[in-house]
Amino acid sequence: MKIVDGLYGFLWRSASENNCNSFFIDGSKRILIDPGHRHLFQHVRRGLERIGVTTEQIDVVLVTHGHPDHFETAGSFGPSARWAMSRIDYEFVMEYLGAQTDLPQPAFFLQEGGLLIGDRDFLVIHTPGHSPGSVCLYWRQQKVLFTGDVVFNQSIGRTDLPGGSGRQLKESISRLAELDVEVLCPGHGDVVAGRENVRKNFKMIKDFWFSYL
Ligand SMILES: [Zn+2]
Repeated sequence: MKIVDGLYGFLWRSASENNCNSFFIDGSKRILIDPGHRHLFQHVRRGLERIGVTTEQIDVVLVTHGHPDHFETAGSFGPSARWAMSRIDYEFVMEYLGAQTDLPQPAFFLQEGGLLIGDRDFLVIHTPGHSPGSVCLYWRQQKVLFTGDVVFNQSIGRTDLPGGSGRQLKESISRLAELDVEVLCPGHGDVVAGRENVRKNFKMIKDFWFSYL
């Protein structure tokens, strides 16, 4: 599904299988955000094929955080593809999965600050709380925010998994709410489109969910 010019979402709607939403950004480099579980990857592959892109053409894979339903396929692209996540979550994955994962070393680490990939300009925001090294990606040119499992449509990420923290999640969400966002692309569930809808979503989350954190 096309979300805005140059941005496509492959949303996951199965109630019986846990996988994340994946997003593709077209530009001078082809970027895939959160490729998801390996055994469910055909969903993303088919979505890419529908817009004329093969997995071998992906240049950069960005992963929001260290949970398998987001990163598992990250190292499985063509030989020229580079993948990245935060150093904190990469080390966290190595600690809890160790030899059980064949995840290769990232080509680079995502860290707080600006990130230019080809002609696409991002701000990387460290947003711990759901996992210690979660990052959100703000695509500055289109004002699109990719939130991983920090914020969803009407909901928030779990804080009861290893390395989770309600206090940190609250601080992270408060930082995100300050951004000028036209489209919020979460790691699960529906996209929130329109500045006013994004604002209302943050307000609802603060009014309702913050009392649980
Ligand atoms: Zn997660």
